[in-house]
Amino acid sequence: MEIESLKRKVKNSVELQRQQLIQLSLNIHDNPELGLEEEKASAWLTSYLEDSGFQVERGIAGLATAFRATYGQGNPRIALLAEYDALPKIGHGCGHNIIAASAVGAGVASKSIVDQLGGSVVVLGTPGEEVLGGKINIVKAGAFKEIDAAMIVHPNMRNMVTVEALACSTLDVEFFGRPAHAAAQPYRGINALEAMILAFTAINSLRQHIKGEARIHGIITDGGEAPNIVPAHSAAVFLIRAPDNEYLDELKDKVLNCFVGASVSSGARLEYSWRDRTYAPMKNNATLARLFSQNLESLGRRVDAFDPRFGFGSTDMGNVSQVVPSIHPTIAIVSPEVLIHTPEFASAAASEAGHEGLMDAAKAMAMTVADILQPGMLDKIRQEFSHG
Ligand SMILES: [Zn+2]
Ligand SMILES: [Zn+2]
Repeated sequence: MEIESLKRKVKNSVELQRQQLIQLSLNIHDNPELGLEEEKASAWLTSYLEDSGFQVERGIAGLATAFRATYGQGNPRIALLAEYDALPKIGHGCGHNIIAASAVGAGVASKSIVDQLGGSVVVLGTPGEEVLGGKINIVKAGAFKEIDAAMIVHPNMRNMVTVEALACSTLDVEFFGRPAHAAAQPYRGINALEAMILAFTAINSLRQHIKGEARIHGIITDGGEAPNIVPAHSAAVFLIRAPDNEYLDELKDKVLNCFVGASVSSGARLEYSWRDRTYAPMKNNATLARLFSQNLESLGRRVDAFDPRFGFGSTDMGNVSQVVPSIHPTIAIVSPEVLIHTPEFASAAASEAGHEGLMDAAKAMAMTVADILQPGMLDKIRQEFSHG
């Protein structure tokens, strides 16, 4: 079958699913679940895939709400990734309900491609993207070893096919001082909060001299018990982000030194630990990106080049992109004034524009599956991956 008629067929298939996909998206949106607690979302998505003829494994990589749904036999295996976790208090302010519904819609539409060209399509349910980095577990469990290419589409303010996601490490720090009456005998105390403030000040100074794309930001999670007690304990969580792993390592040392210095000057003892969840930078596969871009444009969307002004944080898709050729395009559902991770973005994720974003993302992904399975295409994708 001609590629163009195959693409028409998958677009039709996504259209035929319109009501169900929007309903799935709205159900997830109206029932926001935090990372690794996405029981309802995972159940709705897997039963839709099962009803559509996919073979479903629930609870992969030791994560109860992760899943793998497969249609077809053997390689090539193309993975479409779904996220469905929400944010505390603002629900789907990152629009992961759209990511989930578009991946599932593209998966079901890709059945006819697999029937025609062989191989398999895998919809991978990857929970806990925000902060918890669920995909890092899935990568570590080896689930991507059998995958040849991976795609995920995130709602955003622009249509972009490549994104620059930063490498990111999380640092937990605590200072231990000595309590004392803050007025009667302040000289007997060691102030753990002042140690923390010194460290923040040192980091503010450091920030003048770091590379433009790097980010250092944190919050104090314990700043003392009462204003008349010298704080004996303080705690903070910091995120350190950089465009590549080498610079991230350099920055991690510098940030840690700010805490070490504050410990020395205040006398408060420092304890720290780096979480084992390091988000890797995004390695965009240009061949996959070009195919996706052509498909998205054929749907009448203008594709913009990545623009750092519309910045992007970090994503655990970065870790996937280090082990398998990947893309993480974004689909516009709001105007550029609306910021992601806000209540306004959460309402957009359930709006008409959100639904259109879902539909176009699903169509463009399924059309790209058809492209990837054309003779010689995977070789090209793989070649670029191993040289990139
Ligand atoms: Zn987010
Ligand atoms: Zn997100």
